[in-house]
Order: sequence, then C-alpha cells, then structure tokens
Amino acid sequence: MRLTVIGTGYLGAVHAACMADIGHDVLGVDVDAEKVGALAEGRPPFHEPGFGDVLTRALSSGRLRFTTDLREAAEHGEVHFVCVGTPQRAGSKAADLRYVDAVVDGLAPHLTTDCLMVGKSTVPVGTTARLSARIAALVPDGVRVETAWNPEFLREGFAVEDTLRPDRIVVGATGPEADAALREVYAPMLAAGVPYISTDPSTAELVKVAANSFLATKISFINAMAEICDAVGADVVTLADALGHDTRIGRRFLRAGLGFGGGCLPKDIRAFAARAQELGVPPVVDLLQRVDEINERQRTRTVALARQMAGGGFTGRRIAVLGATFKPDSDDVRDSPALAVAAALHREGAEVRVHDPVGSANARLAHPYLDCGADLRATCAGADLVLLLTEWDHYRDVDPSDLAGVVAKRLVLDARNALGHEAWRAAGWTVKALGRPTPSDRLPAPQSTEPLRTTIASPTGHAAHLASPTGHAAHLTSPTAPVSPAVGS
Ligand code: NAD
Repeated sequence: MRLTVIGTGYLGAVHAACMADIGHDVLGVDVDAEKVGALAEGRPPFHEPGFGDVLTRALSSGRLRFTTDLREAAEHGEVHFVCVGTPQRAGSKAADLRYVDAVVDGLAPHLTTDCLMVGKSTVPVGTTARLSARIAALVPDGVRVETAWNPEFLREGFAVEDTLRPDRIVVGATGPEADAALREVYAPMLAAGVPYISTDPSTAELVKVAANSFLATKISFINAMAEICDAVGADVVTLADALGHDTRIGRRFLRAGLGFGGGCLPKDIRAFAARAQELGVPPVVDLLQRVDEINERQRTRTVALARQMAGGGFTGRRIAVLGATFKPDSDDVRDSPALAVAAALHREGAEVRVHDPVGSANARLAHPYLDCGADLRATCAGADLVLLLTEWDHYRDVDPSDLAGVVAKRLVLDARNALGHEAWRAAGWTVKALGRPTPSDRLPAPQSTEPLRTTIASPTGHAAHLASPTGHAAHLTSPTAPVSPAVGS
C-alpha cells in the first residue's frame, strides 16, 4: 500500500522504516529538513537499537523515501499516518495539538483522491471527532477522507521490535472501510497472531492514555511504598519481589527509585488529567495528580539523600552523575529525571559531571552548563559522591573496585536500585538507595525465639522478614545488630 508517515521523530521514523520493511511503499514527511536529510541518507537522527539496520534495508529496497513536502505526501498516500509531537502546552497541563492541527490543515486542501487519515500520536479523547470535522471542511469537493485513531505503544529502546511485533493493535475507525484498510496495512502482524482490537475512536484514544496512566500509577505506587520502607527501615526491593510473585500484580514497573520521565508518561498523564477536568470527571483528575506529585517527589527525595550523603550541602563537592537519559537504551533526555537531579545539584553549588553512554550530546544541548561526557572514569575522577540516575546495563557491569581507585570518596547513591549493593560494599563503598536500609541503618536480626516472625529466602537469595505489626514495632526500637542488606536487583 502507498503510505505516508507525517512526523518522523522517535515514533514516526521507526514506523515509516518498519512499514517499508513489511512491504509498503512509504513516504516519510517532516518539517525538519535536517532530520529528513539524515534519514534519507540512512543516518538515524537518534539512538534506537536496531533502527539503523531497518532504515538501511528499507531505503535500499526502494520502498522508503523522505520529504519535507506535504503536497507530495497528499499525492502519494492511500493512508496518511499522523505521528507528530503532542507536547505539554506552555503554561498548562493540557496537550498542545498545534502540530497535529498543522498537519491536517496543510494536507487536507491538497488531497486529490479518497484516502484515510490515521492518527498515531497520543491525543486527548475527542480528537478524532474534532479533526474529522476539520478535514471535512478543508478537503476539495468530491474527495472523501475517512479517519481513524491507531495509538502507538512502542517503547524507546525496543521501538523496532515493538513496531514489528506489537502486543496488540488498537484501531478506532469512523467506518468499516477505514478498519479494513488498517487490517490490510498490518496484515503480516495479524497473520502472526497479534491481537487486533477494533473499536470506536474515543475508546482507541483512551486506551493509550489509560495504559500510560496505569504504568505511571504502578511506578508511583512502589515509590510511595519506598517512602514507607524508609520510614520503618524495611526493604522496598524485597517488598517488590514479594508483590511481583503475585501474578495479579507482576514484578514489572515495580522498580522503586527516581521515578519516570521522558517525552511521554509525564505529559500524557497531565494531559489526561486536564481532559478529565474538562469532562468533569474528578476521580481521574485526583488520581493522576497524586501519581504525578509522587513521581516529582522522587527527584526531591533523591537530591535530599544526596545532600545528606555529601555532608549536608554541595558547595565545593564534586558529584559524578551516571546517566543522563530518561531511560536506558535511548538518547532521549526529554524530562529526564537524571538531568533534573543533576541540574538541582548544580544549582546548589556542586561541581557536577555527567556520564551517559549515548546521551551526552543531547544532555549538553539541554543543559549547556553541565559537564557531560562519555568516559566513565574521567567523570568519576576525584568525585566526593557518585549518583546512579539511569539504569544502563553499562553501570551494572562496572567493577566497583576499579572505580574505587579513581573517586575521592567511596559513596554511591543508587537512585534506580540497579546495582549489586553487596559487591559495592565489599569493594569498600557506602551504598544508599531510596527505600533500602543500609547495614548501619538496618534493624536487628530477628531472634529465633521471637514469635510470629519468620525469616524466608526469596528466589534471589534475599533474606526477607515476616513480622506481626507488634513484633515489627518492637523490632524498630533497638537498631543494634545490622543484617546484611539485600543484594541489588
Ligand atoms: P518527536 O518530537 O521525536 O517527533 C515529532 C516529529 O514531528 C518531529 O520530527 C517534528 O519535526 C515533526 N513535526 C512537527 N510538526 C510537523 C508538521 N507540521 N509536519 C510534519 N512533521 C512535523 O516525538 P515522538 O517521540 O516521535 O512522539 C510523537 C507522538 O507519538 C507523540 O504524541 C507521542 O506522545 C507519541 N508516542 C511516542 C512514543 C515514544 O516512545 N517516543 C511512543 C508512543 C507514542
């Protein structure tokens, strides 16, 4: 099929290349001429594992081209995918739909044949209905344009895999022809058994924001539990392991720490709350506001713990920050919790050096005053404190004994609960983490004579303690004999 993909950022570029890879004739369109030039030459404008290979393959097949010309797109496409950004509106929590509107306004008047316009960007519920009316008012007489929303669930770092082998395809079409066209677009996925959910546009729009809201809620839930763990000296990693064994709950998205960021989750839950406010649905507004607040609080709590570890203040302290991107396997620094913390430390007088395996260039663009590099030993040289803020595998694989030789003080804050704490402690480091007791803070080992408390071993070999509320309270009052900390996840 002849497809256009309008907006070739993290979502659109991968979608365009993958659609060409499965056999469609694809034209990618963007207003950013530099990005279009890079893509046309087979140079990925961002870091995404596997994307370079698919892009090269698609370009050499002759089924993928790029342009900045919407008129060319209007002539090419039987199906037009809208993949432009929907950021948070300045001065508001709502989504800024100006880019989506600009695509519709720019494309519709040039359409000459019947076609389908499909939104993939994340938008407030009601957008398809609004755009359908807008398109109808702009298309030339005699041209019929069907509309549909087909939200995208890809994860940066897994974008190619998620596009070629998605968990599910959700389509909210305004009519059966649109639905049939999208079944044809995704025929190879449907043949492979990917579930296809055909629904109305409002439900499709809601699926995306509801999914992101659920994931955000799960993360904020475990972070709220981490704060309780800090209050009573309990261990949030063991708690999450134990919760995760319940198949109704599951372990994923229960990693306590610095919280979520990036170009999607924060702005999506805010936009959903803003839309729920417009629609007069207070429970959704209240829930998502709390989720957002808990998430933001993790950044402040991380800075507070770092301050404590630095001796009460950052002036004159050299801090090594490991990780700049909002998550591993991406170079995306949009609303990065790691950079928010790094910037806060800088504001408080620290000399901050940031390391990231691939995100240093973007970090420098976002925060030119931060010293960002890609040499880990240089970043950590002479550091008074090391902060692990993005859980790249790269950092899990670091030899703590080796790093111990370059820092000024062996102090590490593992804000992602990602390091093997025992190995770091064995190498002489003091390790702290949100929701994790350290040996010195830790409560005494349970006495074998105490009733109602059982020591059990988790599958990872962590010690976990079951206590009655009363027994636990008594346990809290005498912090004398430290227990070995759980090994990092
Ligand atoms: P992005 O900022 O990387 O890409 C947006 C692209 O649209 C940019 O290249 C920009 O130049 C282009 N653009 C803007 N206005 C245009 C116009 N009028 N015509 C043509 N191109 C235009 O954003 P993204 O991360 O790819 O996200 C796009 C949408 O997809 C958002 O709604 C986002 O919430 C959603 N989404 C993103 C992801 C993700 O992991 N990044 C996952 C699922 C959904």
